[in-house]
Amino acid sequence: MFTRAAFRFLLTVLLSVNLLAGWSVYGQDNQNGQDSAAQKLNELIEKVKDEKKIQPDKIEEAVDIISRAGEVMSAVEFLDKLDKLQQYREDSIIPTAQKRLSRKMQPDYTILSLQIRKGRDVPAEQVQAHPAAEVFPGLVGEEAKKVSRKIKINTSTAGWHIGGRRSLYWHSTGLYAAPGKVIWVTLSEELTDKGLYVRIGAHSDRLWRKSSWARAPEICRRFALTHTETKATNAFGGLVYIETPHDLKIGKITVTINGAVRAPYYVLGKTDVEKWRKKIRNHPAPWGELAGKKLILTLPSKVLRTVDEPDELMKFWDEVMDRYAELLGRDPQRRRLERFVPDVQISAGYMHAGYPLMTMLDITTTIVDKKRIIHNRHGGVWGLFHEIGHNHQNYDWTFRGTGEVTVNLFSLYIMDKVCDVPDKGHPSITKSARKRNTERYFANGCDFETWKRDPFLALCMYMQLQEEFGWEPFTKVFKEYRTLSDEQRPKNDDEKRDQWMVRFSRAVGKNLGPFFQAWAVQTTSEARASISKLPVWMPSGFPPENAKESK
Ligand SMILES: [Zn+2]
Repeated sequence: MFTRAAFRFLLTVLLSVNLLAGWSVYGQDNQNGQDSAAQKLNELIEKVKDEKKIQPDKIEEAVDIISRAGEVMSAVEFLDKLDKLQQYREDSIIPTAQKRLSRKMQPDYTILSLQIRKGRDVPAEQVQAHPAAEVFPGLVGEEAKKVSRKIKINTSTAGWHIGGRRSLYWHSTGLYAAPGKVIWVTLSEELTDKGLYVRIGAHSDRLWRKSSWARAPEICRRFALTHTETKATNAFGGLVYIETPHDLKIGKITVTINGAVRAPYYVLGKTDVEKWRKKIRNHPAPWGELAGKKLILTLPSKVLRTVDEPDELMKFWDEVMDRYAELLGRDPQRRRLERFVPDVQISAGYMHAGYPLMTMLDITTTIVDKKRIIHNRHGGVWGLFHEIGHNHQNYDWTFRGTGEVTVNLFSLYIMDKVCDVPDKGHPSITKSARKRNTERYFANGCDFETWKRDPFLALCMYMQLQEEFGWEPFTKVFKEYRTLSDEQRPKNDDEKRDQWMVRFSRAVGKNLGPFFQAWAVQTTSEARASISKLPVWMPSGFPPENAKESK
């Protein structure tokens, strides 16, 4: 995720150090150049030491001095100098939501980038707390007690696996590592070759590609657990997780963690609710978690401390997750719990799918409020369901142009089964909005390219099927896709459209060929011929009267 442009830039700075150092043996001039660049940087540091900041009218000059020094000094020496420069500045570099740091803001952008890279690359015991940790993800009070905990992890849980073959599972520990403070992880010799990691920090989105930052671009760090004892630190601190490969099934394992502090951590079916209210939710870490059996919510502790009925809430979220499995015709038992992690800035969009699912901080008070979710009072609840939906999509039944369409079948299903909202929970698919959108499409002459570009228009077609035939055929067809051999699975986009039409037609016992043609969704004549014996179905009053010849 580290952007090429940012990487190239940093690499140029760092590599040119070695290149120029190499050239210097050929000429005294370069040696002088190095000396004077280093000298100028020293002078700048002395000046900042006196004035406590880089004067606004001297910034350009400072950038020049720093970049010249970066070209000629050794990387280690250069970073040490920059650290020194920063120590003397009272205006430390802290990107925030209100005061974002952009690429144009030099030298801060470069200095922060280098600091982050250094904190990520040096051994655990050399990592120091970064000043920006105070703003995000937050500090741990000095008085917070360091604890030692034995963490038991069951690696052989039953259920179906969501996610790719390379995915890792994060196992929550209920512990938090303070910024720049070492924690020790110990495990038995047999576990040292099992691909385990300790992770510090849940905010795994990297922001290097972004043009400006509301927080430091990379604030998590992981350490491979290849020895019986591992030291781990993160300059930003964070919740502590043990990561295991998804296919590791060696039963229950135990890992001991020393030196972390307790986080507010609730586990459905395990944590006593009374204890949660009185004690656990007040544990000192700035972030904690609510774990159901199907989903885990990572949240700021100040939000967690408002949750009085974590049992009711997480049972509700588990039910939501079970509805996804239900629409897919899957067993409710899943091997991996999905995760939601809100962040002050994320790598893409307002929310995005993945492991973890990422959202912005504004959703944190909604995500813990069952009533607000059920009535979609925040308005962004559709989006939460949508992102979880992406994690459940299957690309055999999602042809080009429907990546943002078939996902909404899940949002619709959850709105339908779990929520109590008028008009399907989204303004773009109210009855009148659908009518308007569909009529405009037909009045302009249907065109598959237009259809593919407008997810809410395309969704109208799926909703016509759902309203006529219910959800059952969807589940039936989704299940059918999972039984296909590699030979039977669609091999290209044309086959995906053909198979979706044919399989759905058979599931409902109707010929949907003319319906697909009316919408201008392309299918082959062979596919249409294969269902031509079934009775033709078309929604009543469709296509709209104003329909023009399709393009
Ligand atoms: Zn999406």
